[in-house]
Amino acid sequence: MNDAVRKMLATIAHQTAATASTTGRSTLSPTVLAAIEAVNRADFVPDNALNRAYDDGPLAIGYGQTISQPFIVALMTDLLDIEPDHKVLEIGTGSGYQTAILSKLAAEVYTVERIENLAEQARQQFEKLGYDNIHCRQADGYLGWEEHGAYDGIIVTAAAAAVPPALLNQLKSGGRMVIPLAEARGYQDLVLIDKDKEGKAHSQPLLSVSFVPLVAD
Ligand code: SAH
Repeated sequence: MNDAVRKMLATIAHQTAATASTTGRSTLSPTVLAAIEAVNRADFVPDNALNRAYDDGPLAIGYGQTISQPFIVALMTDLLDIEPDHKVLEIGTGSGYQTAILSKLAAEVYTVERIENLAEQARQQFEKLGYDNIHCRQADGYLGWEEHGAYDGIIVTAAAAAVPPALLNQLKSGGRMVIPLAEARGYQDLVLIDKDKEGKAHSQPLLSVSFVPLVAD
């Protein structure tokens, strides 16, 4: 492991501990940490930001979008409690960094991105790097990806005003969704939703966050 990655992992551990009182997670699972270590963030960062590839902050990826902060990627991944046989849906492929981490933990990852150039770039990168359990689609993620549902986990990497109903429908009973939701005055909360065995959803705000908006087409 090089120094930049070591430092990124140390920052993630520190941030995790510092936010545990509201997230309920004081450490991240070893499998999640191994997945983060296994994916080179530099593979998903534009050339002009390579010197900051392992900084714990978001970076611009063009089209007004960002690659998310490593700590937030790690926390959201951990909150999904992914098992090796799980099928996960991601809304907002962006750079593909979060997708790549999910693909190390789940059986299949379905990812939806509305900006065609970003969707295509990510698809090419997954192919080049040999990720063969990632399925990409260019579409409006508000509608999820019904054909392959229901999903064990759903992760939304852009902030919505409310949980898109289609996504809730496509979540399995017993499944978990992590989504940033916009609150009054522009604040956003990272919200964990779990669907119980009877299909009833329970939601819990965990942490104040800052994401680009989920755009309705
Ligand atoms: N996980 C990504 C985050 C990218 S930012 C990463 O770490 O790189 C959020 C992404 O959501 C952007 O690429 C944006 O284009 C996309 N997005 C916004 N609204 C969307 C929608 N309705 N459907 C699908 N993707 C959407």
